[in-house]
Amino acid sequence: MAQPKYTTHLGMVDILPDDVRKWQYLENLIREEAEKFNFEEIRTPIMEQTELIVRGVGQLTDIVSKEIFSFSRGEDNYVLRPELTAPVVRSFVEHHLEQRGGSQKLYYIGPMFRAERPQKGRQRQFHQFGLEVLGSDDPVADVEIIAFMVHIYKKVGITNTSLKLNSIGDPESRDAYKQALKDHLKPNYEKLSDVSKKRFEKNPLRILDSKEEEDQQFIESAPVITEYLNESSLSHYEKVKEYLNDLEIPFEEDPHLVRGMDYYTKTAFELISPDLGAQDALAGGGRYDLLVEEIGGPKTPAVGFAAGMERLFIACEELGIELGTKKSVDVYIVTLGDAARKWGLNHLPKLRAQGLSATMDYKGRSMKSQMKDADRENSRYAIIVGDHELESGKFTFRDMKESEEEALSMDEIFKHLLAK
Ligand code: AMP
Repeated sequence: MAQPKYTTHLGMVDILPDDVRKWQYLENLIREEAEKFNFEEIRTPIMEQTELIVRGVGQLTDIVSKEIFSFSRGEDNYVLRPELTAPVVRSFVEHHLEQRGGSQKLYYIGPMFRAERPQKGRQRQFHQFGLEVLGSDDPVADVEIIAFMVHIYKKVGITNTSLKLNSIGDPESRDAYKQALKDHLKPNYEKLSDVSKKRFEKNPLRILDSKEEEDQQFIESAPVITEYLNESSLSHYEKVKEYLNDLEIPFEEDPHLVRGMDYYTKTAFELISPDLGAQDALAGGGRYDLLVEEIGGPKTPAVGFAAGMERLFIACEELGIELGTKKSVDVYIVTLGDAARKWGLNHLPKLRAQGLSATMDYKGRSMKSQMKDADRENSRYAIIVGDHELESGKFTFRDMKESEEEALSMDEIFKHLLAK
C-alpha cells in the first residue's frame, strides 16, 4: 500500500470505530460510578493560559520544563492542557464554585497533551479520567478519592494492582525534611546525576523520583519524609491509613513516592500494575491544600487523582479482558429492486421508532452481497424484500443466529421483534 500523504503527529493516535466501543464502555462506567459517588462532571477548554500551568503545576517539573505544547497568537499565550487539576482549580476560582456550598465533588474525562518521547503507554495526546474534591481537609475525602480509583479498576477486572501511599506533609514538615535530605545528599553532591544536581537547591524532593543509576544508592539511604511530619500532617496520614484499612483497601507505604507536580501536600498515592512494563503507573493523585490560594482563590483544601485511560486498556489487553460489546444491529433490511429499496428506506424509521437498531444496503448490491454484509454487520435478523413480497404482503424474516426463516406480515414481524 502506498504511504499516506498525511498522518497523525508523533505520539498522537486515531481511535478507530472498533476501538471506540471500549472507550464508550469505560466512559459510561466512569460516569455511572462517579454519579453513585455523587460527583458531578466538569468540562474545561483544551487550551489554558501558559501562566496558569506554569504556576499550577510548577516551573521545575518535567511537565512544564520539557513537555508543554505551547504557542502564541497575538498577545495571548496558550498551552494544550497537560493535566486537569490546575484547570479545574482555575475554573473553581473563576466561577466562585465555593458559593454553591459544601465540597465541590467533580470528575472529568478527556484528552491531555505532553510532548514526551512516545513509547508503549506513553503518548503525546493521551486521555485521563479523574476526580477532584475541593473544600475538604478531611481524610475521608482522600479515602473516598482512593476508593473510587481502586473501584474502577476492580469493576473492569484489573485486580492485580498495588496502591502506593505516602505523605509528603504540609510546607512546615516538608521544609524540615528538605533540610534533612539536603544534609544527607550534600557530602555526595558531586556524585549525583546532573538532573539531581539541578534539583538540589530548588526542588530536592524530586531527587527521590530520579531514575538515574548514580543517584540510587543515595536515595535508598535517604531519610524518610514520614519521620519529619508535624502533628497535623502525621495525624492526617494516620487517619487515611486507618480508613483505608476499614474499607479493606490494601496499600503499601512508599516513603519515596513524591509525584510529578509541585502542588501536592500531605497525601500522595499511585496505583501500579505489574502488567504494564516500564510505564507501570495506572493512576496517581494526592492532596493539594494550597493550590486554590496559589491560583488566587479562597483558602480551599483539596484532593484528587488522575488515571490514564490508554494504560487501563493496555492492562486489559495483557489480562485478556475485553471491554464493550461487539458491533451489531437488530435488523438488516435486504432489498431487491427499486420498489423494495424505497420500502426499506421507509421502514427503517418505523423499526427505529420501536427502539430497534436497523440498517440497509446503501450501494444497490446483489442479494448475496447484502446477506454477506448483514452477516458482517453482526445482524440479529434480516427482512428480505422483493417485488413478490411487496405484492403478497409477506416478507422473509430470517433469524441470522439460528439460520431459520419464515414468511410473515410486517405486523407479525413487529410482534416477533418486540417480544424479544
Ligand atoms: P499524572 O497526571 O502525571 O499524575 O499521571 C496520571 C496518569 O496518567 C498516569 O498514571 C498514567 O496512567 C497517565 N499518563 C500520564 N502521562 C501519560 C502519557 N504521556 N501517556 C499515557 N498516559 C499517561
